[in-house]
Amino acid sequence: MQFEVVIGLEVHAQLNTKTKIFCSCPTSFGDEPNTNVCEVCLGLPGALPVLNKESVKKSIAFGTAINSKINQKSIFNRKNYFYPDLPKGYQISQFEIPIVEAGEIFIDFEDGSKKRIGVTRAHLEEDAGKNIHHGNVSHVDLNRAGTPLLEIVSEPDMRSAEEAVLYLKKLHAILRYLDISDANMQEGSFRCDANVSIRPKGDSKLYTRAEIKNLNSFKFIQKAIEYEVERQVEAWEDGVYEKEVVQETRLY
Ligand code: ADP
Ligand code: MG
Ligand code: ZN
Repeated sequence: MQFEVVIGLEVHAQLNTKTKIFCSCPTSFGDEPNTNVCEVCLGLPGALPVLNKESVKKSIAFGTAINSKINQKSIFNRKNYFYPDLPKGYQISQFEIPIVEAGEIFIDFEDGSKKRIGVTRAHLEEDAGKNIHHGNVSHVDLNRAGTPLLEIVSEPDMRSAEEAVLYLKKLHAILRYLDISDANMQEGSFRCDANVSIRPKGDSKLYTRAEIKNLNSFKFIQKAIEYEVERQVEAWEDGVYEKEVVQETRLY
């Protein structure tokens, strides 16, 4: 059987604003833990968020660059989850009406041809802090909590690991060119999750996807996708697809 690979990517890009998304703490990287914090980003009772105008401008610049619809009215929502690096117990994110919707990015192949990859949406949200583990104790550094993130979600339009990497490199270049993100993979200001599925060639329905998280280099992304595709194809061929390919998050 011939298979087609289906890939959709979610990228979290830290916006390079001087201050955090809902308070005036600096967003600088590598400072002494818990020095760039205040009542807002620590989630202390009664503190109220004030939206950073620059983060909105930078998101609009991105949306404009990818021919998207910029929503004149856009809504923030609470995404509740419990984890030590999230002091409020919820992340402020966007769900129903993101700031940027329905854009496109064109990837360039070596032979000069192009392909359009749809961008479903890009929404603003706050980053969490960091848990740092030393042996059997864990520390929490909240310097990063409240750093503005633009989450950029693609349509499942990519058909190979190569196309995924071309898309990411193009997206990376757009963010850098607009000077809206450092997009530094080592420092975590450009983080990618890859959603991967396969389907019999000719079929147009979407099959079960696995999501691969924590990918921090183009090379790893390529390898992780290739590995995941091989795993799914083998599962199909061995008759254990239903059992082996389930919607789950896998770590590279
Ligand atoms: P979630 O919020 O649970 O991550 P979304 O519906 O927002 O789910 O989808 C996330 C990403 O997964 C998008 O980039 C989308 O294109 C991609 N995706 C959805 N279904 C599939 C599939 N069957 N195969 C590959 N990618 C998919
Ligand atoms: Mg996801
Ligand atoms: Zn703060």
